[in-house]
Amino acid sequence: MTDIPAFSSRHHNRIAALHGDVTEWRRDLHAYPETGFEEVRTAGIVAEKLRAFGVDEVLTGIATTGVVGIVRGRSEGPMIGLRADMDALPMQEVGDVPYKSTVPGKMHACGHDGHTAMLLGTAKLLAESRDFAGSVALIFQPAEEGGGGGRVMVEEGLFEKANCETVWGLHNWPDLPLGTFCPLAGPTMAGIDYFDIAVLGQGTHAGMPHDGVDTVLAAAHLVTAIQSVPGRNVSPHKTATIGVSMFRGSDAYVVMPDEAVIGGSVRYFEPGVRDLAEARIRSLATGIAEGFGCEAVIDYRKNYPPAINPPAEAEFAAGVAESLVGADKVFREHDPCMAGEDFSFMLNERPGNYIWMGTAAPDHASGKLHYPDYNFNDASIPLGIGYWLALVDTLLPVNRYDVT
Ligand SMILES: [Zn+2]
Ligand SMILES: [Zn+2]
Repeated sequence: MTDIPAFSSRHHNRIAALHGDVTEWRRDLHAYPETGFEEVRTAGIVAEKLRAFGVDEVLTGIATTGVVGIVRGRSEGPMIGLRADMDALPMQEVGDVPYKSTVPGKMHACGHDGHTAMLLGTAKLLAESRDFAGSVALIFQPAEEGGGGGRVMVEEGLFEKANCETVWGLHNWPDLPLGTFCPLAGPTMAGIDYFDIAVLGQGTHAGMPHDGVDTVLAAAHLVTAIQSVPGRNVSPHKTATIGVSMFRGSDAYVVMPDEAVIGGSVRYFEPGVRDLAEARIRSLATGIAEGFGCEAVIDYRKNYPPAINPPAEAEFAAGVAESLVGADKVFREHDPCMAGEDFSFMLNERPGNYIWMGTAAPDHASGKLHYPDYNFNDASIPLGIGYWLALVDTLLPVNRYDVT
């Protein structure tokens, strides 16, 4: 395994002693991946371990498979939330690791197995020491990868059940070196909407196009025209990515279909940009379809809001990370990521921060997030647990007169 970078923590020895166990838990979760809202085995293991660690309250069944464990410290204080995601992706693993996915077509390619295992390790150490004032809610959410498990947990009363003052997220980041952290202030992960547009016309024999109304040609023009929205409508000083990733027409070389369907995503950071993009896509679809003698049926769905880290908590997280790995290993400046993240639903309810934890190491081929050869770097586990514990120490310090 990759060497673990040096880090400074008063819990260093306890973390190091637990590293092997957490790695085993992570690899077990990796071998049995479950996708959104179906994390039954995973959630069962999480709840069972939390109870075994002596966590005070274990709430299950929030957003179907979500689990929240609450650990109380040795004295009174506020509650904070630490969040991990549990779901895998619907894709086939190609890497050749001993703990390779045993479930065809499912894979932990985003490292949520690592996030879950690290938060479990954190739970164990917190429950053992109770060395903090207040309480910590360990939030294990389902369905981050498109299903909006974070949204459903909030809708099902996450913060009524666990009234956190602040909420904190962490994601492994293979694009940054192991031992580094990146807590951005402001836009961090993009908002994402989905759209499907059905172009309706008149199918016909491919050899006699004049007898029908060509839906594929109209849809092809629409795909091209949609690219004018980020290029010509959105200000060059703002950000939007709009892509058509699905295109469905006929199933035969010789049949022109009644209907061609395209689908894709809009990614943005500002609500005004999103509203502009939606309006332009609707207008282009309607106008282009009509120009070709077709009709457009548009299904535009708002999905994840952008994750915008509030500046004060970003600076706080940066200070915590610096205490762990040193000032030169904490990056406050970085391009935001155009992928989405439903931790945004929690950040919209409570202040907090979503931090990237670097995992790249020269002797570890981790691949990229969502790639079929992605491989979580287990050497990052102590740093993840170290960050969570440093956050608890800093946010919920035990009163120095409160000696036990
Ligand atoms: Zn992902
Ligand atoms: Zn992820």
